[in-house]
Amino acid sequence: PAAPTRRPIAELPDELISQIAAGEVVERPASVVRELVDNALDAGASQITVRLLGGGIRGITVEDDGAGIPESELPLALKRHATSKIRDLHELESVHSLGFRGEALAAIASVSDFSVTSRTTDAAHATRLDARSGELRPAARTVGTTVEVRELFFNTPARRKFLKTEATEQAHCVETLRRQALAHPGVAFSLWSEGMRLEHWRAASADQRLQDVLGDDFLLTSRAFAWEVPSLRVQGRLGLPEAARSRADHQYLYVNGRFVRDRTLAHALRSAFDDVLHGQRQPTYFVRIDIEPEQVDVNVHPTKIEVRFRDSRGLHQQLRRLAVEALATSQATRSELEPQ
Ligand code: ADP
Ligand code: MG
Repeated sequence: PAAPTRRPIAELPDELISQIAAGEVVERPASVVRELVDNALDAGASQITVRLLGGGIRGITVEDDGAGIPESELPLALKRHATSKIRDLHELESVHSLGFRGEALAAIASVSDFSVTSRTTDAAHATRLDARSGELRPAARTVGTTVEVRELFFNTPARRKFLKTEATEQAHCVETLRRQALAHPGVAFSLWSEGMRLEHWRAASADQRLQDVLGDDFLLTSRAFAWEVPSLRVQGRLGLPEAARSRADHQYLYVNGRFVRDRTLAHALRSAFDDVLHGQRQPTYFVRIDIEPEQVDVNVHPTKIEVRFRDSRGLHQQLRRLAVEALATSQATRSELEPQ
């Protein structure tokens, strides 16, 4: 038999490393929306505009009025593992921003036609950096940042083939933005598609934002609850049993302003409905947990959709108790109101 052949070990080119890493972070246009809007939120924006073309496949533009990026740092913003958000292990373990991995822009830029235009308060003009050419040019815009992403996955055809129709990809982008808008009611958001405005959520109270994003029904058919100890605040709204849905599509759970999926906490909420929700009916809820950053590890998943709590079991107990109480109160209130 022929001797097994091997090729020598070689370091991969930088561009390919980024494209491999992009596979973890950028699954579809909605992932780009999530990352760019997270960046805008981290930059302290009060107004964020998202524009889609072709469901986000042909184009995604995110504009914000945040702090901006100085011209001298623009090239760094596109480098892998370059971030302004953490400096050392201690800061990683107590992270307060949505981003910290310093890889989103590099990843997105490696699989699209990418540019970023930004201006800080002390700059005389904005600067545009085109990722492909690496060219920096003066540009016109007010303080803040515009990131333009065109033809996502044009250079990674295998990835591009996994995309669904434009309508489906757009629906995912819209849902991503809703999740972010719900957690940041003080920020105004608008969403455009093919030059038409689809959504506009002005800065509002938390309840007003819930109403604007989820519709009037959710407020009318849910009960608010809140609980607080020094290291932890849990607040939200739980849909009444009759508001349950056939799909788990109105389940919004946040940890420190970040939308997450967590089986333990989802179970805590579902279990509060044990007696009253039959079969596959899914509860609706909006729950935000604000917890000391040291109590939660957000660095367990490249997209940060999963987190790990130090005391997951304790949190489960508290959340279940709060949910049970919220439902019990609502039932008591209703039977008192019923005509005798
Ligand atoms: P991360 O958000 O994890 O730091 P990114 O690749 O998303 O990594 O962004 C890299 C850096 O570019 C950020 O740390 C930030 O300093 C800067 N940046 C990106 N987007 C914006 C924005 N919209 N406004 C201001 N700065 C930004
Ligand atoms: Mg980021």
